[in-house]
Parts: sequence; C-alpha cells; structure tokens
Amino acid sequence: MIDSYGRNITYLRISVTDKCNLRCTYCMPEEGVDELKHSDLLTFEEIAEFTKCAVSMGITKVRLTGGEPLVRRGIVDLVRMISDIEGIEDLSMTTNAILLKQYAKPLREAGLQRLNISLDSVDRGNYARITRRDELPAVLEGIDEAIECGFDRIKLNCVVQKDRNEPDALGVAAYAKEKGLDVRFIRTMNLDTGEFWIVDGGTGGDCSICNRIRLSADGHVLPCLFSDIGFAVREYGNREAIEKAIGAKPEKGTLSRSHEFYNVGG
Ligand code: SAM
Ligand code: SF4
Repeated sequence: MIDSYGRNITYLRISVTDKCNLRCTYCMPEEGVDELKHSDLLTFEEIAEFTKCAVSMGITKVRLTGGEPLVRRGIVDLVRMISDIEGIEDLSMTTNAILLKQYAKPLREAGLQRLNISLDSVDRGNYARITRRDELPAVLEGIDEAIECGFDRIKLNCVVQKDRNEPDALGVAAYAKEKGLDVRFIRTMNLDTGEFWIVDGGTGGDCSICNRIRLSADGHVLPCLFSDIGFAVREYGNREAIEKAIGAKPEKGTLSRSHEFYNVGG
C-alpha cells in the first residue's frame, strides 16, 4: 500500500486496551482516565479479522500496544490468533513489563517474536516518581524472565526529558549493556502542542519514512499519531477504513487534541 507521498505502508500498531497499571507522568493523569465502554472495545475476533485484512493489503509487521497490553484479559489468545495469520513477518509487543514474569513464556509460545519494554529509570525512587507506582522490582523480574524465554530481540524504550546523558538514561544504558539488551531513547513528546522528535535509535518521528498505521482500542484506523483523523472499522468495514486512513496520511504530523499515548499506543 503506497500512500500519497510514496511511502509504503507495511507496519500496523494495534492498541488492545486504553487501561494501564502505571500512571507515567508524561502519558496519563494521576487519577487515570475514563475507561472505554466494554462494547466500544474491539473484540479479539474483530482485531484478528482486521489484521487479516491489513495483511492481505500489504502489512507485514504488527505490534501490540496499549495502554498496557498485558492487562487485557486473554491477551495470550489474541497473540496466538494474530501469529496464526499468514504473511506477518514480524510480531512484537510494547509493554511496561510489570506482568511479564507471568506472561513472557506463554506469549513466546503463542508466537510473539520481539518485545519492547519501557524502562525510564533503574533507580527505584525515580522509577516510582516517573510512573507514580513502586513497581521497579516486578519490572526487573519481568525483564529477566523475558530474557530466559529467548525472544528474538528485546529492546528497552527509555523516555528522557532531553537526551541520553541524563542520569536516569545513563543508568538504563548501563543496565541494558549488562543484560545485553538494545536501548533507545525517546524524547518526551506532546501530542497537544505537536512537539515530536525523531526517536534516537529508532524510526519513529521521521515523517518522511513513516510506514505506519494504527488501530485504536475502540476500532479507529489512524493515519498518524500527530493528527486527529480516524476511521471507524465498525462504520466503514476493515478494508475501506484502511484505504481511507492511508489516503488521509499527512505528509507530516502536526498535532492531536483527541488522541493520547495511552489510547493510540505511542
Ligand atoms: N504501556 C506500554 C508501555 O509503556 O510500554 C505500551 C504503551 S505506551 C503508550 C508506548 C510507548 O509510548 C512507551 O514506550 C512510552 O514510553 C511511550 N510514550 C508515552 N507517552 C509518551 C510521550 N509523551 N512522549 C514520548 N513517548 C511516550
Ligand atoms: Fe501506561 Fe505505557 Fe502510558 Fe506508562 S507509557 S502510563 S506504562 S501506557
């Protein structure tokens, strides 16, 4: 699928829930957010059908995200349903790792290939301050379990204020080196004001090579994180919603007042 600016769209990010067990200061308010009505949340069958359709149209790479994907009940079943779809070359998940000790093995067995794990600090106090929850020990146990399970690749996502030389970022870099993990540093972005940056060590944030579309937990196909446009799959059907989203992909992101990282998955 080639968009109006010649970009080949091959990458689908699926947000499976807007709920989360952390409250990262740059992502969610302390009091949490109004949860989606259960009936507005796409079912696993709907997500799998959508993904099948997207793959038949040229998607080869799929990432599950959220909110926190591991808090969606039955997530392993969804991973299995998606990994069974022929034509997906790369299936990954972004998670905060709190529940990975329990889920890493079943996820791997269900066909998940790669993990991106969010880790902003290895200092327990700073981690609790940034995420508003004292969960660092569970996260580190989850990461160790994931390493044991032999995922193809584990990458740490570390959100920084400005750059990789901040003390928390240096701590995460040293931890990643010790564990043999990749790490990339993401400068804090702001959807409301349209402040976004090219992700250090990744491809996110570079509009000229953007190959992504997103499916939100409530079933909208989003052409761009930094745009308010979205097409409801229950209204248009899968194929048309995808075609419309790709047709509406802007040359460059601007800003979004209706989306948040926790509901479009970062
Ligand atoms: N809960 C999972 C997690 O944190 O890994 C998945 C969803 S989270 C929204 C996906 C990614 O978006 C995380 O790596 C997170 O650090 C990043 N993110 C959230 N808010 C951000 C912001 N304002 N600026 C930059 N990255 C952000
Ligand atoms: Fe939750 Fe991920 Fe947002 Fe943190 S960044 S609040 S873990 S969704």
